[in-house]
Amino acid sequence: MTAVIHASLTARRRVRELDALASGEQPDLIVVGGGVTGAGVALDAAARGLSVALLEAHDLAFGTSRFSSKLVHGGLRYLAHGHVRLARESAIERDILMRRTAPHLTRPMGQLFPRYASTSPRDHALTATGLAAGDALRRLARTPSSLLPRPRTVQAAEALALVPGLRETGLRGGLLAFDGALTDDARLVIALARTAAGLGARILTRVRALEVTAHRVRARDELTGEEIELRARQVINAAGVWSGGLVPSVRLRPSRGSHLVLDARSTGIGEAALMVPVPGELNRFVFLLPQPGGTVYLGLTDEPLDGEADDVTEVPDTDVDFLLDVASRVLDVALTRDDVRGSFAGLRPLLDTPGGRTADLSREHAVLTDASTGVVTVVGGKLTTYRVMAADAVDAAVSAAGLAAPASRTARLPLVGAASRAALTTVDAPRRLVGKYGTEAPRVAALGDVDPELARPLFEGCATTAAEVVWAVRHEGALDVEDVLQRRTRIGLVPEDAEAARPVVADLVERSLRGLD
Ligand SMILES: Cc1cc2nc3c(=O)[nH]c(=O)nc-3n(C[C@H](O)[C@H](O)[C@H](O)COP(=O)(O)OP(=O)(O)OC[C@H]3O[C@@H](n4cnc5c(N)ncnc54)[C@H](O)[C@@H]3O)c2cc1C
Repeated sequence: MTAVIHASLTARRRVRELDALASGEQPDLIVVGGGVTGAGVALDAAARGLSVALLEAHDLAFGTSRFSSKLVHGGLRYLAHGHVRLARESAIERDILMRRTAPHLTRPMGQLFPRYASTSPRDHALTATGLAAGDALRRLARTPSSLLPRPRTVQAAEALALVPGLRETGLRGGLLAFDGALTDDARLVIALARTAAGLGARILTRVRALEVTAHRVRARDELTGEEIELRARQVINAAGVWSGGLVPSVRLRPSRGSHLVLDARSTGIGEAALMVPVPGELNRFVFLLPQPGGTVYLGLTDEPLDGEADDVTEVPDTDVDFLLDVASRVLDVALTRDDVRGSFAGLRPLLDTPGGRTADLSREHAVLTDASTGVVTVVGGKLTTYRVMAADAVDAAVSAAGLAAPASRTARLPLVGAASRAALTTVDAPRRLVGKYGTEAPRVAALGDVDPELARPLFEGCATTAAEVVWAVRHEGALDVEDVLQRRTRIGLVPEDAEAARPVVADLVERSLRGLD
């Protein structure tokens, strides 16, 4: 068997592995939560030779991890707050993702900071200084300028060439900088989980943890309703904004971030992202981020959440109006709600106060060991820094449980589908597929060679093919139509597209699941 086959997640594998756990198999670690943090923990543990099972109540990347801005940040914001060590860590993690572990899922993204006659010299100088500091971080992390070019000043004509929809009146030019971007945050989580599975991790979706202690989890199989008792040498809670529901001493103050999905053509956004200063605020930007496939994400808000975190957060009208208003200030067109094709919101798992016995809140993520139950919780942080979070959590669990394990190995462990950028350019498959599947792209495309029906797009004007749906079920652990629409593909971000695709996706999922029996 090849590593790729081992890394395949299927409905059948899920049943088999859940049965083994429920029958008394005791892994070294159980991690609760299948977002980027939990999947990162599963991979870190498996790569150290530990046995590990991941329990996710819904689907991989069901929570915050699919609603991010999809940026691989270089740590500029940390630097702005004087957190030099964290900034350096972010820049290093960006380098690891972009050059070693996931070149196939990441790309450099140009970001234009336009300068108008109305832009104050102080604000412009501040932005320029910040970008120069960001570039120093790039150099510190040894990321070559051939991958992330140095920031530079651009004239008005070049600014317009980069962002054709920019308002021309009063435009004086701008600053162009580069940061990393993910093709798709949910696909990063899936790649992490599959890579972990390839090293023997048990990845169990639709399994909700109801109660946790250091060595036990009472869980429910959400597909059958059956409750089960699971045992491990150490339990890690990586349930994001829901962490406090399992370990009450973990206190969070979630904040909501909303994005709108727009058409690249209607906004006039080209290859580069557009960064728009929020009026009256220092160093805060709303941005328009071009995505593969002709859409643009307009974000980002930052509002404290009132009350409990729902499973999925709605975007309120106030966020929509705020984003459209700020973006319209620098665009040639005034954006209206008619331009909005979809929207999504996520909750940042921000730490409130340290609730555990061991807390390291000098970092933006924390690993907390609950004094009464002994459960290790890892929370906070960023998508970009998931790898260090995971390593810290596994270190804490290894020490709490007295396990013998080497240090983290993930810095040099490519994810499923990864190859160097040079090697990726030679992969014999459509570029769009290489951007999603990396070196596995030819295998996805081959499904359509064998059965031409599978080479067809799901509906007219849609880039996603039927083969991608079949692949999602056969290899990526998709169990139903929503897993495919919302997380294996991101068709669900535009509700109209989701409706158009749903019948054919439902049929393909059903047939593919039957094919697995
Ligand atoms: C709007 C927004 C934009 C962002 N943009 C960026 C960005 O551009 N770059 C960046 O680096 N970071 C970004 N972040 C931060 C980043 O997205 C988060 O830090 C990260 O995704 C959190 O991942 P997580 O795995 O900890 O949580 P989650 O992704 O929420 O995962 C937790 C999982 O636990 C599961 N779960 C909950 N309870 C249980 C239970 N009882 N049993 C089993 N499973 C359970 C949930 O279903 C969920 O899947 C952004 C955050 C927000 C909100």
